[in-house]
Amino acid sequence: MKNFFKIFTGLYILFLVSCQPKELIFEDSICIQNISTIDPMDGLKENQTVIITNGKIHKIGNTDSLLLSADNNIIDGTGKYLIPGLWDAHVHFAYIEEIAPLMFDMFLSAGITSVRDTGGKVDFVKLWKDKALTKPTTAPRVMMAGPLLDGEPNVYDGSDASHPELSVGLSSVEDVISQIETLINKDVDLLKAYEMLSPEQFKKVNELAKANGIKVTGHVPLSMDVISAANAGLNSMEHLRNLELSCASNSDELLAERQKMLADGNDMAGGKLRTSIHTAQRENALKNYDETKADEVLNVLKEKNVWQIPTLALNTFLSNKYFADPEYQKSYLQLPDSIAKHWKNRSNVLKDFPMSEAFAAQVDFNLKMVKKVYEKGIPLMAGTDTPIAYLTPGLSLHEELEALVNTGIPPLEALKTATYNPAKYFNMEGELGSIKENMWADLVILNTNPLEDIQNTRDIEVVIKEGQIYVSEDMKADLKIFRN
Ligand SMILES: [Zn+2]
Repeated sequence: MKNFFKIFTGLYILFLVSCQPKELIFEDSICIQNISTIDPMDGLKENQTVIITNGKIHKIGNTDSLLLSADNNIIDGTGKYLIPGLWDAHVHFAYIEEIAPLMFDMFLSAGITSVRDTGGKVDFVKLWKDKALTKPTTAPRVMMAGPLLDGEPNVYDGSDASHPELSVGLSSVEDVISQIETLINKDVDLLKAYEMLSPEQFKKVNELAKANGIKVTGHVPLSMDVISAANAGLNSMEHLRNLELSCASNSDELLAERQKMLADGNDMAGGKLRTSIHTAQRENALKNYDETKADEVLNVLKEKNVWQIPTLALNTFLSNKYFADPEYQKSYLQLPDSIAKHWKNRSNVLKDFPMSEAFAAQVDFNLKMVKKVYEKGIPLMAGTDTPIAYLTPGLSLHEELEALVNTGIPPLEALKTATYNPAKYFNMEGELGSIKENMWADLVILNTNPLEDIQNTRDIEVVIKEGQIYVSEDMKADLKIFRN
């Protein structure tokens, strides 16, 4: 009885306390009050208050029950939307080295708080990864692959401006082993296999990646087909590259022909040899596209959990012509003058460039396959290939999201490809990619609802990286948190 009384008294006091409207103070915190949160898994929740402390999401509650003292650092989220910080899952710091020093700011201002570098000289990319690690609130998180692991002749050999030295040409399986040992010592987060590898080399890349607990992404080597690459352990495919060659009714003949061309073209430059194979086979493969064969290939990709980074804006660039829009071209002003000028000139030439029948067929294939990949439940990630093809670092990710939605993928699912999915790809879904307590506070406040129109991901008010707030000067004046 005595015990019961104690419990009863305790409950009674708790009841009284909870009846009092209690205004809470969160020291050294930022409180985003009365915002609609959009979690990639749970969808939209209205009237939420989110407390950020020590770089992490400390607490999330309903605005009516989580009452805040006016002494807190409050951002009024009324009428606004909170999404997780975005990822661009396919970038190249090393493609135009002059742009690299500007990329952190360009990514952050576009709401991108994490990137995945898919190929470049390892020491150059590592410089940016290390910079980001030293000051994580000032830069996006950088996950890197190191150089493209290519066979010989290698494609990105530094021979001209469109083939900068992004790859290493490996002539044997032994070369693969020693190169990967070097990369593991430099803390790469994944490996990138490229198109000129032999099947034996490709198998070794996958075997060593597994042994070191990291993933292999890549272009399916021209010496293989998609099914054998998936069976060898490929974890993800960039650009749906060479998928069409495996979805044709004559895919076996095409493979035999490719292997012969590779053997015969041994003394050609890598870029030329690759182009000659693509030219000889792509149109042929698309003409012989076979729905049953495509289903067979996609079923293997699903079964083996081979992620897809379709870089759809890039793959369809001559049909969607994002670069032709004067609004889009304004983003070039963020680049060094000479590059901005060159990009603008090229954009204006290309905007009137007629699309060939072959390219149109390739575009149709890409659009169709992205939809199929999504419907099969094969995981997708949004990536751009910036700064290739006038894809401005930052803004281009929003073009990619729009391109994904235009295939019929719902906006929330498209958001997932740039938030939760890349986090999961790197086994980091317990730390970021969702709006949940204890996650890193990598967040973006939008003025308008991206679920109604995916273009609204561009309507950014505030970007938060591990608790550090970034706003434009105009916005600062409106936010109490920045007033003295
Ligand atoms: Zn790339």
